[in-house]
Amino acid sequence: MNINLLSADVYNKIAAGEVVDRPYSVVKELVENAVDAGASEIAVEIEGGGKKRIRVTDNGSGIAKDDLPLAYASHATSKLKSADDLFAIRTLGFRGEAIASIAAVSKMDIVSRRADEDAFSLACEGGALGAVRPAAGAQGTVVTVDDLFYNVPARLKFLKSDAQEEADIGSVMARFLLSHPEISFTYIANGKIKYRSFGDGLPAALAAVYGADILGNCIEIDAEKHGIRIHGFLGNRNFFKPNRTWQSLFVNGRYVVNQTVGAAVTNAYASYLMKRQYPFYVLFLDVPPEIVDVNVHPNKADVRFADNQIVYGCVYSVVSAVLDGNSRALEYLVNMPKTAPAEREEQIKSAPAPVSAPQPSSAAAPSSSGSALQAMSYEQAKQEVRFDVTLPKGGEPRFFEEAPVRMEVRAPVSSARSGEPSAAEEDAFAENQRYLREQSAKMRQERVEPDSLTYKGELFRTYLIYEAGDAAYFIDQHAAHERILYDRLRGKWENRAALSQPMLAPFLITVNAQEFAFLEKNFSLLREIGFEVEAFGDDAVKVSAVPVDLMGMDLNAFFSEVLSSMESLRAIRLADILKDKLATAACKAAVKGGEALTEQEARTLIREMDGDLGLKCPHGRPAVVKMKKSELEKLFKRIV
Ligand code: ADP
Ligand code: MG
Repeated sequence: MNINLLSADVYNKIAAGEVVDRPYSVVKELVENAVDAGASEIAVEIEGGGKKRIRVTDNGSGIAKDDLPLAYASHATSKLKSADDLFAIRTLGFRGEAIASIAAVSKMDIVSRRADEDAFSLACEGGALGAVRPAAGAQGTVVTVDDLFYNVPARLKFLKSDAQEEADIGSVMARFLLSHPEISFTYIANGKIKYRSFGDGLPAALAAVYGADILGNCIEIDAEKHGIRIHGFLGNRNFFKPNRTWQSLFVNGRYVVNQTVGAAVTNAYASYLMKRQYPFYVLFLDVPPEIVDVNVHPNKADVRFADNQIVYGCVYSVVSAVLDGNSRALEYLVNMPKTAPAEREEQIKSAPAPVSAPQPSSAAAPSSSGSALQAMSYEQAKQEVRFDVTLPKGGEPRFFEEAPVRMEVRAPVSSARSGEPSAAEEDAFAENQRYLREQSAKMRQERVEPDSLTYKGELFRTYLIYEAGDAAYFIDQHAAHERILYDRLRGKWENRAALSQPMLAPFLITVNAQEFAFLEKNFSLLREIGFEVEAFGDDAVKVSAVPVDLMGMDLNAFFSEVLSSMESLRAIRLADILKDKLATAACKAAVKGGEALTEQEARTLIREMDGDLGLKCPHGRPAVVKMKKSELEKLFKRIV
């Protein structure tokens, strides 16, 4: 067999497959280029799931006439000059491969104009460059990619349906909106606006992606621990999703998928959610570069941390502290409203047309349709939570309760800016504003003073009824009591105030060398929560006392669970297992449904809940359901 040098054509097609394998990766590369070019407005239009056309328009720096051919060359980049620069990369791209790769497998055209220069265009068909020509265009760059993979039938065959490819592009775009809330994005698929953001901050970007009502269901957090900053939005305890596609994590600005962080958040929600319910979150982790190893391969969303435990502990404690302080009863609604997407579709439809091309010299004259809207930003009072090394001692992390999400929505100041908004804009966005204002008012009322609740009796010996203002609250006595006991037990443990109860006969666990080492390492933790443990030779551990709260527990089952988690997250998982045990203990000790409480007991229960009507039992079932007077009146058709 002869060794052949591959022709540039073949080589480029192979290389292209590594950078761009699907339409969404083309979108990702082109938008990253626009971001790198410093654009403040980026429009993405696609047709036929991106197979037919992808066009990205930006108002960034533009490409100089003489550089246009270079942009198409492989390994040509303006972002990296020497190998040393590799260690201080500040741009999303740097390999200089994307344009060359995409151009090899499509019909591509770039029109670009730098400030104070003329616009030029250069097209390329299946890797064959055309000539640089004068063109018309605003400052910035318009990249059009038609008929992706038209010359690579094998790859074309492997693409998914237009709808599926479009959905994947949608996810990529959602991530851009969320990770670059300072940039104004427009995303249009087959002529319909799917997303539109105005560069006015994260809350607004969230609303643009998920619809305005998302903010009412979220808690904004901003915390710092161990030099790790966590900020973003978490769904509240009554807001959950059927799968993980509603979770976004950005580490140092980059979208990633990471098991450690995923597990930490999931476990923090564990006592609030039922099986197959997943929390919603958009979280940003800023970590010191030395503890993170971002795999810089453009198609990988992986990230590795030098110390998973620190990251886990940090995320877990912040998220669980926030959740534990977030009170909100599950609301009973007559005719549950239809889901948001339909509504959002409406809002989008009535939104103004996007800027189809960047305006000349955008700094001086922002696009007229954009400016009025940009002025409407959602001001959200930030809650600054700074953690020390551990959770606050001395009871619940109360300071969170003092600071639930406060949403101060500024009145639109659009009229102060150039031009009045059109009627359609007014509608969609005034609507959003009103909604946000209502939500914020609602949030403020969420916590109920125990004394303002009047006990009205019980139903089925299980549900206690209370009245406050124009709402009735139904409290599941078992679920609520369980939660109170659980929190109390956990509080004791966290304060190292657990009591232990000596056993009549000590319990011996026979273990192998690894298990022994693992247990020995965790002796101090076990002792802190009330176990009395010591080494018994070098292949057994003796347990001579157990925590009072867990008396009668199945020690065998407990320790096999502890040991089965040895491989995974080690000590951290141990804490989770203990929590699980606590939940069971609390459940056993709590008053049961069917047990009649005296009025006195019912009052004590509500007082112990301390106004936290968002309580859920440790297994995630709601403890409180709220029904407004108006909902009742709807049932009786007094109002419609
Ligand atoms: P990389 O982004 O890794 O540098 P690309 O192939 O994506 O490689 O782009 C090659 C070069 O083309 C970039 O370094 C940049 O100089 C230029 N370029 C590409 N897209 C744009 C854009 N939208 N605005 C300005 N310059 C761009
Ligand atoms: Mg690039």
